[in-house]
Amino acid sequence: MTFADLGLSDELLRAVTEAGYDTPTPIQAQAIPPVLMMRDIIGIAQTGTGKTASFVLPMIDILAHGRARALMPRSLILEPTRELAAQVAENFEKYGKYHKLSMALLIGGVQMGDQVRALEKGVDVLIATPGRLMDLFERGKILLNGCSMLVIDEADRMLDMGFIPDIEQICTKLPAQRQTLLFSATMPPVIKKLADRFLSNPKSIEVARPATASINITQNLVKVDSRKKREALRALLDRQDVHSAVIFCNRKTTVRELNKSLQRHGYRSGEIHGDIDQASRIAELERFRVGTVNILVASDVAARGLDIKGVSHVFNFDAPWHPDDYVHRIGRTGRAGAKGVAFTFVTKDDAEAIDNIQKLIGTQIPYADMPDTGTDAGPPEDAPQERPARAERSKRGKERDGKPGQKAEARAEETRREEPRRQERPARPPEPRRAPRHAERDDGPDDGWNGPVPEFLSVGFSG
Ligand code: AMP
Repeated sequence: MTFADLGLSDELLRAVTEAGYDTPTPIQAQAIPPVLMMRDIIGIAQTGTGKTASFVLPMIDILAHGRARALMPRSLILEPTRELAAQVAENFEKYGKYHKLSMALLIGGVQMGDQVRALEKGVDVLIATPGRLMDLFERGKILLNGCSMLVIDEADRMLDMGFIPDIEQICTKLPAQRQTLLFSATMPPVIKKLADRFLSNPKSIEVARPATASINITQNLVKVDSRKKREALRALLDRQDVHSAVIFCNRKTTVRELNKSLQRHGYRSGEIHGDIDQASRIAELERFRVGTVNILVASDVAARGLDIKGVSHVFNFDAPWHPDDYVHRIGRTGRAGAKGVAFTFVTKDDAEAIDNIQKLIGTQIPYADMPDTGTDAGPPEDAPQERPARAERSKRGKERDGKPGQKAEARAEETRREEPRRQERPARPPEPRRAPRHAERDDGPDDGWNGPVPEFLSVGFSG
């Protein structure tokens, strides 16, 4: 099967060829023809399967004819996080380069002015996170009754983040006569109910999870003492041929502390987590993309679905609490046919988490040798920050990115209320006593950036 067999226009086929794809992925092969025939779709697929192109490509052809009117987007794509929204926008740019379609991105954490101006001009494609969209809708800055196509992407993550009520509301504002595409990695009952209520005679398509099917990722467990994780990580980073790595931690505080520690030890590392404002997150990702830093320390929410080419290693500094997160995390490497390596640190408290992961992926992950950490001259690993007092531990527990039970609130909060949270945060802690070996920031002008949205995020594309 080739892309030409799917019924796409010549302009799109050209853009797809230039993107370097020759064969459609299973979700693309199964979804594109029915979407072009205006069918509703339920796609059970996750990031890494090529699902973005499976809706972006046919949408471009469907929207190719017709004109956008002020404040009335012709199509709407809902994404749970800003990063995913930005990634979909990039996909539109890439595939839509031979079409004259306009696009706007509505995401929290960036100024509204440019977003509103783009809407006023009229857009063919609106890509939004639910919180910001509802915000603008309630201010009367946007009308949804001209929107004949709706994509609800990563529906199960929307559920985790507490967005389902917003999505239900948004669905009721759109015209009843529309095409709706819903994508989700899993189909919990709430999502099934949402689909039953808002989709009409949908075609269901299910493709295999990439991580379970992927033979491109070599997975390893590493037994560590919880007080020696940093040493073990440095030993692995030094021993492995790390081109670029994403290191996942379960808590935002751990992300911050680990990044500082790595920088103190001379590594070129950066960090992303929910407490970092949007502009800095974009800047940090860009630094990672272009190789200014080659290590990105991340929380699950901030790194969800990130599509960065050539990540050679994923390290789970903390074993994830949710087995699904394991699949998402390691899926940051081994992308688009490349080889990848994943290491997961296992302390004596992680037995159950590892057991659940192995059940989910259906294989036993082998233990790698413990790296030699004996001669390291780094800061003492049982320093107070590693063994916080009880009050501090309980405070940290509250800011976990994905703690069960608090997950929905915390994650929704993270995406929707970035500005207020930033203002409420206490002043930054004093700088570490020891000067970092490398200049800590080389993204000067972007620091504290409050200007317009970068071009690829806000403006339309045209051929
Ligand atoms: P997604 O699941 O949409 O996040 O896509 C995962 C990755 O696969 C992205 O890097 C895409 O650029 C890439 N991709 C999408 N479609 C294809 C294809 N047909 N052939 C090769 N790579 C693809």
